[in-house]
Amino acid sequence: MDHWVIHIPSGPLHVETGRYSGTPLDQRLCNVCNGGQIEDEFHFLCICINYQELRERLYQEIIKRNDMFITYENEEKFKEILKYHQFPLMKYLKSAWEARKVILFNSSV
Ligand SMILES: [Zn+2]
Repeated sequence: MDHWVIHIPSGPLHVETGRYSGTPLDQRLCNVCNGGQIEDEFHFLCICINYQELRERLYQEIIKRNDMFITYENEEKFKEILKYHQFPLMKYLKSAWEARKVILFNSSV
């Protein structure tokens, strides 16, 4: 996966940690939403329902600069964000990463 322009900072997603623990790729699922999808960068940024509110804010920022954005498919959105909207992306990642920690921590106690 060398096409990520930005590697999601501040900690590995399950798609990464599963590589070290030997978990097969199709079992590296998102434990945040339990939606049965692999927790990779795409899921984290564009899909996971738990970050819906943060994502709305991110998309609003981007739509101000590109009003076609709303018409894009998720995969196009993902590429557009990584390429052209790095500042709002960093804000999203910071908040989403915090939210992820809280959810995973709370659900494990
Ligand atoms: Zn998820």
